[in-house]
Amino acid sequence: MTEVVATNQTILVVGGGISGVTAALEAAECGKDVVLVEKTPALGGRTTQLYRYFPKLCHPTCGLEINLRRIKSNPGLRVLTLAEVTAISGSRGDYTATVRLSPRYVNENCTGCGACTDAVETLVDNPFNYNLNQMKAAYLPHAMAYPQRYALHPSIIGTPDAEKAKAACKYGAIDLDMKEETIQIKAGAVIWATGWQPYDAAKIQPYGYDRFANVITSVEFERLADPHGPTGGKILRPSDGKEAKDVAFIQCAGSRDENHLRHCSRICCMASLKQTNYVREAFGEAAKSTIYYIDIRAIDRFEDFYAKVRADATVRFVKSKVAKATEDQKSGDIILHGVDTEGYHRYENRHDLVVLAVGMQPSVNAADIPAEIISDSSGFIESSAAGSGLFGAGCATNALDVNRSVQSATASALRAIQVVNKVARAEA
Ligand SMILES: Cc1cc2nc3c(=O)[nH]c(=O)nc-3n(C[C@H](O)[C@H](O)[C@H](O)COP(=O)(O)OP(=O)(O)OC[C@H]3O[C@@H](n4cnc5c(N)ncnc54)[C@H](O)[C@@H]3O)c2cc1C
Repeated sequence: MTEVVATNQTILVVGGGISGVTAALEAAECGKDVVLVEKTPALGGRTTQLYRYFPKLCHPTCGLEINLRRIKSNPGLRVLTLAEVTAISGSRGDYTATVRLSPRYVNENCTGCGACTDAVETLVDNPFNYNLNQMKAAYLPHAMAYPQRYALHPSIIGTPDAEKAKAACKYGAIDLDMKEETIQIKAGAVIWATGWQPYDAAKIQPYGYDRFANVITSVEFERLADPHGPTGGKILRPSDGKEAKDVAFIQCAGSRDENHLRHCSRICCMASLKQTNYVREAFGEAAKSTIYYIDIRAIDRFEDFYAKVRADATVRFVKSKVAKATEDQKSGDIILHGVDTEGYHRYENRHDLVVLAVGMQPSVNAADIPAEIISDSSGFIESSAAGSGLFGAGCATNALDVNRSVQSATASALRAIQVVNKVARAEA
């Protein structure tokens, strides 16, 4: 049975994305006892699945690497992966979290050599690439994964493939007897950083995401452009592997819409502007990007980035809410239909590939989090009730970019530190 020693002076951080990692580090570097709990096999959250960051177009791995170094050098911060918080009870200064620990089937002897991957044959969907390809059922979640430790997919447990993985491991790291456990962790304050998930594009019927292979989402496009992605960084169409030189981006796909997400995620305009750079980078002057938009929301420092993309001759802007997409079955091309509101003429535009800029919604509906949380109409954490010791951070509170997520996480760390300091004074 796993035991995590924690007290009411411990700060529990739920969610190991950039927000949770930031909050945990800020609190631990102030000398606090911190437990960071992440439900997937590795830290980093959805930023690890981005190819580049706007506005600087740098790689997310750079910031992640700095944070991982900070984590490794801080004994006050304990990290649990494959650990999902399923319930929180109690109140400020005295919380108990229920945490489900899923088996990794690989222990800390793992050196990351990859012999288990070579040994197994079973292929499973690769969630890191939004299931655009498959991976071996003994896998490292991604190249920068922390911990750098392989995992076995539960589907091979009890099969000959699991035994092959065990036999191939020279370090005794494969433990097929690991079982799911549920444990309780105490904490004086809780930071809730469970992040976001992309809106389900299949629900936006007129755009045909569930019918047409060459209609994909913005998060999937990040993986297509990434050299660690399913196509090795080549922008290829899912239907036939042809280079997608003519790419359409549909803004507000399911956002600002009473039938889908009411809110604007703010990120999507910047994400699509950024992604036109991926197309240009791949195909130079032969690239053709078209952004279909209602209005572009690129505020503050992002205005310069927008102006730069506007000046790019390979990028065209069409002010229009696309009415529907159809497929040319012979070529696999996607035809977008609508009315250009700047000239009021109808269009039927053909593209190699269509990218839906889907909105961000909370991965956990704030209304389902007990412990004194006030949620907004979209399910984000609006605020904590007066006297609460549970604080939202990052995209659990709103659709935010990384910069604003980090600011929000730092603020939540400060609030949590105030709570446990008070507990410590009371107990002194
Ligand atoms: C298409 C697209 C492109 C983007 N590009 C950029 C960009 O270029 N620049 C930029 O600044 N921003 C960009 N963003 C926004 C960026 O992805 C977010 O700001 C960032 O992911 C927020 O991090 P987070 O930690 O709040 O959430 P997440 O990254 O979602 O992390 C939350 C973590 O919590 C874990 N978790 C969830 N529930 C539980 C639970 N119950 N128990 C334990 N763990 C749990 C999850 O597994 C996850 O690891 C983009 C967004 C989109 C949609």
